[in-house]
Amino acid sequence: MPVPGELTFAVPRGAKKPPRHLADLSPAERKEAVAELGEKPFRARQLSQHYFARYADDPAAWTDIPAASRGKLAEDLLPELMSVVRHASCDEGETRKTLWRLFDGTLVESVLMRYPERVTMCVSSQAGCGMNCPFCATGQAGLDRNLSTAEIVHQIVAGMRALRDGEVPGRSATAAAPGGATERLSNIVFMGMGEPLANYKRVVGAIRRLTDPEPDGLGLSQRGITVSTVGLVPAMYRFAEEGFKCRLAVSLHAPDDELRDTLVPVIPAGRSARCWTPPGTTPTSPAAGSPSSTP
Ligand code: SF4
Repeated sequence: MPVPGELTFAVPRGAKKPPRHLADLSPAERKEAVAELGEKPFRARQLSQHYFARYADDPAAWTDIPAASRGKLAEDLLPELMSVVRHASCDEGETRKTLWRLFDGTLVESVLMRYPERVTMCVSSQAGCGMNCPFCATGQAGLDRNLSTAEIVHQIVAGMRALRDGEVPGRSATAAAPGGATERLSNIVFMGMGEPLANYKRVVGAIRRLTDPEPDGLGLSQRGITVSTVGLVPAMYRFAEEGFKCRLAVSLHAPDDELRDTLVPVIPAGRSARCWTPPGTTPTSPAAGSPSSTP
C-alpha cells in the first residue's frame, strides 16, 4: 500500500517484463527483427499488414507467408500479450468494458464507447498507478508495473477488431470507414488505469503505432487522441515538444490549489520539479507564468 502523499515512479522490483511484440518496434526495427530470424525483410511489412490493417494475429490467417515461417514469426514477434477475463456491457451494449489478464497475471481494463458521432476507446497505460490520489481505488492499490507499448496498442487493436466484427451493437453516424464497409475507432483516450506521462516512452511509442499510416500503424488521427495527466509538468512540456496534434487533458479535481493539493498529491507545496519528474523525462524549469502550481 502506498504511503499517504507519496508518489511512486519506480516500478516495483520483481515486476516481469512483457515479451517483445511487433507493436513495440518501429518499422525499421521490425525489418531487423525478421532478418535476425532468417527471414526476408519484406516479411516485416507482411506481418504489419496482418496486425495493424487486418487485426489478424493468428498465423493461420497469414496465407501470404509460407507455413514453415509462420510459427517462428508468431512466436518471436506476435506472442500472446493478454486474454479477456470478461466483458461487461451497458447502454444496450453500446458501452463495453473489458477486463484483461496480461501475460504475468496482472489485470487491467479498457472501455469501448459508441456515441452517435464517434466511437471512443479508453485505455490503460499502467497496471495500477503510483500517483496516490486518495479518492481513486487504482491509486490506493499502488503501481504494479508499466504497460509496454504493445500492451497499450493491443487494447486498441482488439477494440478495432470488435467493431469490425460487429461485437459492439449499434452504428455510428460518422464512424464508418471510407466505403462504409467497416467501422473504426475515432477517439482514443488515455484515461484508464495509470498516469500516462509516468510511462512516457511507451505511451509516446503507442501514439506513434496508433497514428502511423497503415500498415506501419493503425492510421488513426492524432487529433482523435487525448492523453490525460494528473499534472506532471516537465513531462507535459516534453510531450508538447513531440509535435503531436493530440490533446492533453489535465485533471483539476478542485477549484483551488489548496483543495487540489489534498485530492491530488502530485505537486504538493515545496516539492522541486525533480521530485515529480518521471524517469526518462528531463526536469524542465517551467517558465515564469507557466502552470507550475496550477496545472
Ligand atoms: S492519476 Fe488517475 S489512475 Fe492514478 S491515482 Fe490519480 S486518479 Fe487514479
